[in-house]
Amino acid sequence: MSDKIHLIGLNKDELAKFVLKIGEPKYRASQIFKGLHERRLRQIEEITDLPKSFREKLNETSTTSTLEVESRYVSEDGTRRFLMKTHDGYPVETVFIPTEKRDTICFSSQSGCPLKCDFCLTAKLGLLRNLTVGEIIEQIVIVLNDVYGEANETPHGTNLVAMGAGEPFLNFENLIKAIEIMSEEDGLFIVPNRITVSTAGIVPKIYEFAKLEKRPHLAISLSAPNDELRDKLMPINKKWDIEELLQAAKEFQNSLRKGERFTFEYVLLGGINDSVEHALDLAKLLKKYNLTRVKINLIPHNSAEPLEYKPTSWDQVEKFKKTLEENGVSAYVRTPRGRDIFAACGQLAAKSEPNLVQIAN
Ligand code: SF4
Repeated sequence: MSDKIHLIGLNKDELAKFVLKIGEPKYRASQIFKGLHERRLRQIEEITDLPKSFREKLNETSTTSTLEVESRYVSEDGTRRFLMKTHDGYPVETVFIPTEKRDTICFSSQSGCPLKCDFCLTAKLGLLRNLTVGEIIEQIVIVLNDVYGEANETPHGTNLVAMGAGEPFLNFENLIKAIEIMSEEDGLFIVPNRITVSTAGIVPKIYEFAKLEKRPHLAISLSAPNDELRDKLMPINKKWDIEELLQAAKEFQNSLRKGERFTFEYVLLGGINDSVEHALDLAKLLKKYNLTRVKINLIPHNSAEPLEYKPTSWDQVEKFKKTLEENGVSAYVRTPRGRDIFAACGQLAAKSEPNLVQIAN
């Protein structure tokens, strides 16, 4: 695969240039695009509206599918975790989370992650490498095909969250290009409004993101109301502290569309950052920066060895939430999903355990 062109990662202009370069008419580009994105076909041979000779020619210079599903785990709550491998052997994890109203796919932007959030298992992998545009899109296609069957249903109702392995803003260009391609009407047609990107606080990219014309929603992982604690929990704070982060958040707030809000994520760690005082400090902090169009997503920590954190009791989660609400801050608790198959937040560490229920492809 290494020097073959990964067709699914090309936007329409690039695809048109590519077919012209190999001596084919431009409309072939549109056939390829629809085949790979709208119909979610995984192999060039399957795009049968292309002449056989052209398909053979394509196969010589390009490829459509590079990710391989190594294992697939299904939780008792219906969540599915896909452990995939890149052509050069790096792990990629993607999670499908069904709910009554709408399904969500949580995808990865990097293999592993260079940030060292203390409560996250992915951090233990370190950064293996950035994912390409094609690898980001392929994750979605693979999951949609698994859930809905190949192109049997359109996924318009599906939400995407860039909250799997990796820090999306450290792979900014590939992420944004993948999102642009996925939003094409004659493709996957998952518009930015259905996509949320979560950052641990890469401040310069928050400013850049705010300026994008068609941008997805933003979530910022905060998880502590003061620098001392955040330095320990999320060492990226030593590079861009809370002051710098919340100034960027304020600027981002100015870019919000009518009725739009953005999110702060707060991972609750038992006895560490989950007291009523922490909640009060958090509310004060938001007030100080005049951050009014925000909601807080409270994420009870998903304990997993070798992490030593304990979960917050439900009683304490409720107290934390209530304190925020009493101080004028909207707060929601994210119900943990897929804990039994290591699919929940902070648990993605390419775990392939023999005792998990594995459904082979
Ligand atoms: S929480 Fe996100 S940014 Fe932090 S180490 Fe884990 S994957 Fe990376």
